Amino acid sequence: MEHFLLRHLDIADINDINIYKQNGGFESLKKAVTIMQPQQVTDEVKASGLRGRGGAGFPTGVKWSFLPNNIWPHYVVCNADESEPGTFKDREIMERNPFQFLEGVALACYAVGANEGYIYLRGEFLHVQEYLDKCIGEMEAAGALGEKLFGTSYNLKLKTHLGAGAYICGEETALLESIEGKRGQPRVRPPFPAVVGLYGKPTVINNVETLTNLPFIVEKGAAWYRTLGTEKSPGVKVISLSGNVNKPGNYELQLGTTFRELIYTHGGGIPDGRKVKGIMPAGASSSIIRVDDSTFDTVMDTPMDYENVQNIGSLLGSASVIIIDDSHDMDWVINKTVHFFKHESCGKCTPCRDGNYWMLNIVERIHEGHGSQKDLTLLKSVANQVNGKCLCALGDFSTMAVSSALERFPEDFDKKVKA
Ligand code: SF4
Repeated sequence: MEHFLLRHLDIADINDINIYKQNGGFESLKKAVTIMQPQQVTDEVKASGLRGRGGAGFPTGVKWSFLPNNIWPHYVVCNADESEPGTFKDREIMERNPFQFLEGVALACYAVGANEGYIYLRGEFLHVQEYLDKCIGEMEAAGALGEKLFGTSYNLKLKTHLGAGAYICGEETALLESIEGKRGQPRVRPPFPAVVGLYGKPTVINNVETLTNLPFIVEKGAAWYRTLGTEKSPGVKVISLSGNVNKPGNYELQLGTTFRELIYTHGGGIPDGRKVKGIMPAGASSSIIRVDDSTFDTVMDTPMDYENVQNIGSLLGSASVIIIDDSHDMDWVINKTVHFFKHESCGKCTPCRDGNYWMLNIVERIHEGHGSQKDLTLLKSVANQVNGKCLCALGDFSTMAVSSALERFPEDFDKKVKA
């Protein structure tokens, strides 16, 4: 299949601005700025059914239309904080196909009437920031960014901003706080960023992969985009596949591709002929899907889209699919996830801050063989006290693996604890 996002797999030097231009680069931006009204761009993206690829799956064009037209300026912020364990797709896009990504950011800016766009990168992406700054400079020199784009009156400036290595800054309001120079902690909502966002102004926040879809949607149209994927989840998705598979990596596939095709065709199956025991489709934030002899075919034949993954008890999220084979027990898995969330909890609200501290204490006790049956009940109770009672989604995410592992893999815990 032709690649639309990981285009460097088809055209090796697509990160060269001249090669990008020779392959239709910036034509969508030129078309939008010179012959389309901003609302037409929004309408096309709405009609395409493009859903946010950062995890929530919210319709992109609908999100843009929440910006009020009586408060200015508008801002576009690209969330390039990519920090979910198991997710490494945005980095590949930015490193290998940077101009299509930046053209996508520019299209979003034009659609919502923004003259400034920000790209917020996680702290570890210093080299990506330096690279994107170089690419932005090349676009300015080529007239694809800057003053009077393509001879029109539209001006656009893109800026990169580096975080300081905190997972919570991938949460959109914490990200805005961080750009503003404050401590990166989530804001209380409402108001939502669409109305009170960056510097208190209406702001659209989209993920890297989401924005990289835009040049193709503007060029080929919404009807074409809807020929890919499923009716409710149109388009392609870059899936980061990791864990116990022979060929981990990023795979660009149509939404609705089955787990079987991902794991056994693209991923080359499980090392040493082992069996899949669990799947985390959305990185460390996932509810773990149980796979055994009785559920194997149902799970493997499930199409990976926003609806069907939910039907088997998890979420597609950012599609960072981690495979766990039958050599691992789930107390080991949740020991990893709880360590991560305890470390990354920003501490602003009590259920998440204290809940993760206590979950880690109990999980470690169980994992080290010192736990009791009472600890299993207590762990479940603490997870329940965190889930749904926090200021931001990190609190909920921290409980997903714990609660699902306890419920779906009880035998792994029963054998670890004393009576
Ligand atoms: Fe911070 Fe956790 Fe509360 Fe989110 S849920 S605001 S990460 S303490």
